[in-house]
Amino acid sequence: MKTEYDLLIVGGGMVGASLACALLPLARRYQLSIALVEAMPLPDAGSSVYQPSYDARSTALAYGARTFYEQLGIWAELSRHLTAIDRIHVSDKGQFGATRLNAEQEQVEALGYVVENRWLGQVLLQHIREQGSDLIDFICPAEVVDMQPCETGYEVELSAPESQRIGARLVVMADGGRSALRNRMGIGYTEQPYGQYAIVANLSLDRPHRNIAYERFTATGPIALLPGESVAGEHRCALVWTLPDDELAAVTELSDGAFLKQLQEHFGYRAGRFIRVGARHHYPLKLVQAEEQVRRGLVVLGNAAHALHPIAGQGYNLALRGVVGLAEMIAMQSEQGGALGDLAALQAYEQKRRKDQFRTIEFSDRTMKLFTSQNSLLRLGRTAGLQFMDICPSAKTLFARAAMGLDMPAMRLP
Ligand SMILES: Cc1cc2nc3c(=O)[nH]c(=O)nc-3n(C[C@H](O)[C@H](O)[C@H](O)COP(=O)(O)OP(=O)(O)OC[C@H]3O[C@@H](n4cnc5c(N)ncnc54)[C@H](O)[C@@H]3O)c2cc1C
Repeated sequence: MKTEYDLLIVGGGMVGASLACALLPLARRYQLSIALVEAMPLPDAGSSVYQPSYDARSTALAYGARTFYEQLGIWAELSRHLTAIDRIHVSDKGQFGATRLNAEQEQVEALGYVVENRWLGQVLLQHIREQGSDLIDFICPAEVVDMQPCETGYEVELSAPESQRIGARLVVMADGGRSALRNRMGIGYTEQPYGQYAIVANLSLDRPHRNIAYERFTATGPIALLPGESVAGEHRCALVWTLPDDELAAVTELSDGAFLKQLQEHFGYRAGRFIRVGARHHYPLKLVQAEEQVRRGLVVLGNAAHALHPIAGQGYNLALRGVVGLAEMIAMQSEQGGALGDLAALQAYEQKRRKDQFRTIEFSDRTMKLFTSQNSLLRLGRTAGLQFMDICPSAKTLFARAAMGLDMPAMRLP
């Protein structure tokens, strides 16, 4: 470990590790010294053996994210445990409207991909270890407990293995939605609770999922079902079931059998019969946005900057575009001999990011509100909308492109 770095990333989660991978070629090209600090011990990191576990959490990657991993050179490795989404079925319970999106019609190989978070993290960290051991110091487990601005950037205090201070010209806070550093640094944020919880679990179906993802809007909230990798011959799907706050307790207290029965009643049988549910977890849903995303020598990235409703599966995909934008800014500053923590350069980066964030947040926030509203006019409107989308290819393509992140700026790394 050095005492001075050009760049220090706080948090080796999906976003911090993605940024470290994206910066590897720049570190080599411009001789940048980089540290990645992660608080949790990561036993799987760097191991090529992967044992899928029934209860692993998953993320839907937009089709556009594929170009990012291809440029990193890890797409082939990642593909070993990816499930392609060939079709998306969107419907509204109790209404006739439904729309079906199809990869073939949209002329893409897949509408998106489902990856287990643990596998994605393992591949990213393995890449850093294999390709960047001479370029990036992976400091783990160690927690950043404090940061103070100084003349050259920030002085960062680590808690483990023993208290240490290191300097960095630019600090990237990718320490997640519950960022303690955000509070410590006095970075304000807005929080808009949706009055809902997401119950997340894996399910087994009595038949193959045929690579179909479902989004089912019900009177109590949307239910998403993502196709997953089979484990021990079971056809597995990832469930995100959104429920109002006051209905959570009644559902979490159900036995597995009663839970499956209730879910089946809400979701119907279009995916088959639910025959098993794994460990259930629940999260309060809220839209959280940091009021400041840059300061001189400091960037806030990923969930620490914005946590979205998971309905449209956009949070990580949006963060990845932030990773690419930041890498562009770092390349430009390095090329021109400018300071990495230069406020004007960071503000220009932030300005571009805010536009994309605004669009993406509007898309998931409005979709959520439209489809959870019990207002009869809105219900009528969305039924008509789904029917219209199903018969109108161009409307469907617009929706599919937004959901897949295809109409967003291309994820081209510098
Ligand atoms: C139910 C649900 C479903 C979702 N589904 C999707 C989806 O399908 N598609 C999608 O795009 N997005 C999805 N998301 C969003 C996605 O999960 C997040 O965008 C993503 O996990 C954010 O990653 P992150 O690295 O910013 O934060 P985290 O994953 O929280 O990582 C932060 C890391 O920082 C470390 N850390 C924290 N503090 C410190 C410190 N002081 N020092 C050192 N290390 C520290 C932590 O240990 C952790 O490893 C979903 C979210 C939820 C809740």
